[in-house]
Amino acid sequence: MSVKITDACICCGACVDECPVGAILDDSENPEGEAAYYVQPKACVECEGHYDAPACASQCPTEGCIVYSEGNKRGMLAGTPVAA
Ligand code: SF4
Ligand code: SF4
Repeated sequence: MSVKITDACICCGACVDECPVGAILDDSENPEGEAAYYVQPKACVECEGHYDAPACASQCPTEGCIVYSEGNKRGMLAGTPVAA
């Protein structure tokens, strides 16, 4: 399914341009109304076919901010922080 951005997000914007499929929305566009960036679950491909690991997490300065959501493609435990 996708990775997910938690409320640990500090809205630094470092992840947005790293996404190869444009799946990340900024806080002003977050459909859940949270003051955090948002990964569109249907758009995120978990960087499969692009990078070995999620590129957004590699750029994120906040530990544990980007986690796997349920039903992710890579079989990670939901809520597990994505390794940078
Ligand atoms: S894991 Fe990859 S495809 Fe998914 S939001 Fe992050 S950068 Fe985009
Ligand atoms: S890089 Fe991390 S802290 Fe910065 S906007 Fe993206 S998810 Fe939020």
